[in-house]
Amino acid sequence: MTEVERRKDASPAPTSWDYAPAPEARDIVTLRERYGHFVGGVWLEPSETYATISPSSEEQLAEIGQATPAEVDLAVGAARNAFDDGWSQISPSERAKYLFRIARILQERSREFAVLESLNGGKPIKESRDVDLPLAAAHFFYYAGWADKLEYAFPNRVPRPVGVAGQIIPWNFPLLMLAWKIAPALACGNTVVLKPAETTPLTALLFCDVVRQAELPPGVVNIVTGDGRTGGALVTHQDVDKIAFTGSTEVGKAIQRELAGTGKRLTLELGGKAANIIFDDAALDQAVEGIINGIYFNQGHVCCAGSRLLVQESIYEPVVEKLKRRLTTLRVGDPLDKNTDVGAINSKQQLEKIEELVAAGAEEGAEIYQPPCRLPEKGYWFAPTVFTDVAQSYRIAQEEIFGPVLSVLTFRTPEEAVEKANNTPYGLSAGVWTEKGSRILWMAERLRAGVVWANTYNRFDPTSPFGGYKESGFGREGGRHGLEPYLDFT
Ligand code: NDP
Repeated sequence: MTEVERRKDASPAPTSWDYAPAPEARDIVTLRERYGHFVGGVWLEPSETYATISPSSEEQLAEIGQATPAEVDLAVGAARNAFDDGWSQISPSERAKYLFRIARILQERSREFAVLESLNGGKPIKESRDVDLPLAAAHFFYYAGWADKLEYAFPNRVPRPVGVAGQIIPWNFPLLMLAWKIAPALACGNTVVLKPAETTPLTALLFCDVVRQAELPPGVVNIVTGDGRTGGALVTHQDVDKIAFTGSTEVGKAIQRELAGTGKRLTLELGGKAANIIFDDAALDQAVEGIINGIYFNQGHVCCAGSRLLVQESIYEPVVEKLKRRLTTLRVGDPLDKNTDVGAINSKQQLEKIEELVAAGAEEGAEIYQPPCRLPEKGYWFAPTVFTDVAQSYRIAQEEIFGPVLSVLTFRTPEEAVEKANNTPYGLSAGVWTEKGSRILWMAERLRAGVVWANTYNRFDPTSPFGGYKESGFGREGGRHGLEPYLDFT
């Protein structure tokens, strides 16, 4: 008998085949029962609290502080002191060191953050693990690199930090949006008070641990939690120099009205209703993958989601057929299962909003398709959905659904595609699928969208600016452009 055969002989035959436990398991996250506000490097006991839950199980995860105007005032005061007491004056390369440290700690603790993000927000673990976390760390690395090169970024101008930045973020990419906001602000020498969304505060609160681990001076980063009232108190606070907001167009407009005439700086990253445009010469199988990624990634809770599919008429049938077939292979369910493609809807309110708009689509005359899939009984779920026979005037073609719902429209010529794509109050993103490079450039020139992806979709990179036209907001995040909102020039 050979050595190999002998070993094989000795090992008992397995009686069952079970999966090994996943490394991204619930128990790698330790949660406290109650969280306060992170102000001046310490935890403030909150005067009011609310419960945060897991949208996939409705299980309560922790008690969270609901910051009052007085607590917001303490946070802004701590940020002002930290700004005046040194953060704005320390050498830029020192600032960079802190940012590099934060980036590295995020990488080291990425599994813990990914599990928490999926637990509190409902997104599939493969997305939080492979997209949200690597990108959040990449943003800190990228802006760490700019911290001591600001005069090269803006030649012949003398850049100065703006002061205290108030930052308000949504629930669709909680940690990533935090990174988009905090990294450039700190790199430019500002201090921040950040408010995460009411439904997804936990990764921002875990981030406070990273801030301490990185030994960031107290008060440079402050986190206050709560609902829109807390956001409102931050917006109107007299000692905040700049507001950076990502969220709905409605709240963005209200903030803009509130700040008019105050001299406070403002950037708004708001909603979208992007067109994903497929020409008849596109590689169809790849395009179908792009369509799926464009609208079902993160349950469609994506401001730049490709929620309007514009297909050239001559390939309408094969595209819709391939799309429906692909839809049947999507797995909907437990966000912590690494095979899950579509996780839980973030909240009950969001689920109701999706249901209302989908009912409106069916009522207006569009044809609905949902693949057969069994949804879990507990939690908030919505099956991936495609609407065909959609007219441009339908609400599902006009309004942001922010869920896993796609509306399919057709076009004949490139001119018509541009006209239909631009027929929206928004202008955040678009996708173009064609073999012809010249057509991509022709389309990109004419599409009124901040980002145009060519033969791909939902690609993000910290070096690339992101932001909108029209009701999708103004100001850019990412890239060298992302530094500007956090700088004054003399
Ligand atoms: P909101 O615009 O209400 O929320 C975004 C952030 O602003 C949250 O932190 C929110 O707090 C806060 N906020 C709410 N009201 C105020 C206020 N008056 N002043 C200051 N801050 C405020 O979005 P929703 O979460 O209600 O989502 C509604 C719709 O918005 C979605 O269906 C989607 O269409 C769109 N949306 C777009 C996003 C984007 O990335 N462009 C992201 C999220 C939503 P709180 O969490 O407590 O409400």
